[in-house]
Amino acid sequence: VRVAMTSERVDRRIIAVGSGKGGVGKSTLAANLAVALARAGRRVGLVDADIYGPSVPRLMAVEGTRPEAEDKTLIPVMTPAGIPVLSMGQLVRPGQALAWRGPMAASALGQLIDSAWGDVELLVVDLPPGTGDVQLSMISKWRPAGAVIVSTPQDLALIDATRAIDLFNQANVPVIGLVENMAGYLCPHCGKGSDPFGQGGAEAAAARLGIGFLGRIPLDIALRTASDAGQPPAAGDDALATLFAGLAGQVND
Ligand code: ADP
Repeated sequence: VRVAMTSERVDRRIIAVGSGKGGVGKSTLAANLAVALARAGRRVGLVDADIYGPSVPRLMAVEGTRPEAEDKTLIPVMTPAGIPVLSMGQLVRPGQALAWRGPMAASALGQLIDSAWGDVELLVVDLPPGTGDVQLSMISKWRPAGAVIVSTPQDLALIDATRAIDLFNQANVPVIGLVENMAGYLCPHCGKGSDPFGQGGAEAAAARLGIGFLGRIPLDIALRTASDAGQPPAAGDDALATLFAGLAGQVND
């Protein structure tokens, strides 16, 4: 049953993007997934809940912005890509550590999620890596409609990803699937391919765990430079955009 659609009460679903470890490309995937879902016609918002390294403002070219508030409710910041975002990084001064204990982190998460999202119907939430307080309050208070887990093909990253998956399983949050990032590198000089982080590990792990495998993203310098420049490749028109559109299609189903 759909909730009546006034501007503040839409049937809003949360897609959580998690990982076992940091640095595996979780924020990159969350940002590009949001852009690709919007291109597919969904009304999407993006929440950066990564208290350890909020990187969405940079990825979406709104670094240094502060959200306005109305009656203590935050108003998301609109990005050049047309996605409204709110980030943990916007709640503190730039460079300030988010050294929060559980209850504070949970209340900060609440500020980001229960804000003026208007007619946004899909909220992509970039979680911190691991299985800590933010994940637990996310699951218990805002129950995601589904979770996407990111891992590199490497064993260590996969073992941690397995823990993240287990957390969602225990809470009965459907795991939409596993994305393998930094999978394969094509040398721009010699044209040869190599696998710096190994190959096929995530797909095998997904099969073993009985969850979906959504696809792989190569290790790609263009993806890194575009991300650093605040230009999500999913907004472009090359192979990476096609790849993210494909991933979004599976999340959208
Ligand atoms: P996490 O959110 O898991 O900590 P990020 O998304 O911040 O990871 O990515 C960490 C770094 O790796 C960033 O500099 C990002 O641009 C880079 N990166 C992520 N995925 C790729 C990729 N497939 N190819 C090249 N660089 C990548």
